[in-house]
Amino acid sequence: MSKILAANFKTNHTRASTQEYVEKLDTSMGELGYLDDLYLFPPATALNNFNVKNSIHIGAQNAYPTIKGSFTGEIGVEQLEEFNVKTLLIGHSERRHILGETQEFIAKKYIWFIEKGFKIFYCIGEPLEVREAGDKAVRQYLVEQLEGIDTSYENLILAYEPVWAIGTGKTATAELIERTHSMIKEMVDKPLLYGGSVKPQNLAEILAVPGCDGALIGTASWDAESMISMLEIA
Ligand code: PGA
Repeated sequence: MSKILAANFKTNHTRASTQEYVEKLDTSMGELGYLDDLYLFPPATALNNFNVKNSIHIGAQNAYPTIKGSFTGEIGVEQLEEFNVKTLLIGHSERRHILGETQEFIAKKYIWFIEKGFKIFYCIGEPLEVREAGDKAVRQYLVEQLEGIDTSYENLILAYEPVWAIGTGKTATAELIERTHSMIKEMVDKPLLYGGSVKPQNLAEILAVPGCDGALIGTASWDAESMISMLEIA
């Protein structure tokens, strides 16, 4: 199976710089003969129906489960569909831990968007204290993060992102990723990405881990040249 690469811009890039980034990536994909799918999650203000030659898919980092309504500060399906966006990130640790999204709300969002046929990138991952409590505690934590999620949905891609490895420069070891991925794959038989301080220097090792179907990349994806060097590796 080919590897899936996804770039999470978080609160970085403007509409103009996203446009430049997409153009650079599109040109490089052509030159490299990179044929796999690439997913970009820019900020909501940079969502666009980009005119690209290669398979660059644009996803939203967040959306509210509504077509349109009274949810101040949120965007709904109508705003996504204006740009043909049919891919959504759900359950990211920053939304769970910084923005306070509960599992109940996340599951509601998930159910709502799968009914609308969206491709979902669904993130799970344990904080440090749970990792330190051992594999049994990690398993229990991940099971809870899958509560209310219909994992038989055909357009589901999972991402295992340990909270302690996100944006910290601390990558999980290949051995730990393999062990945790095999634990998750026993629960859910879907493509499974790893995320957490992935960068050009460690991407090859991570993608070589059995049971790792790709990478969800934050910090190291923000620079187009860095992302292009990761396309060369994948
Ligand atoms: P990072 O972020 O690569 O900066 O650790 C990953 C993510 O949050 O998806």
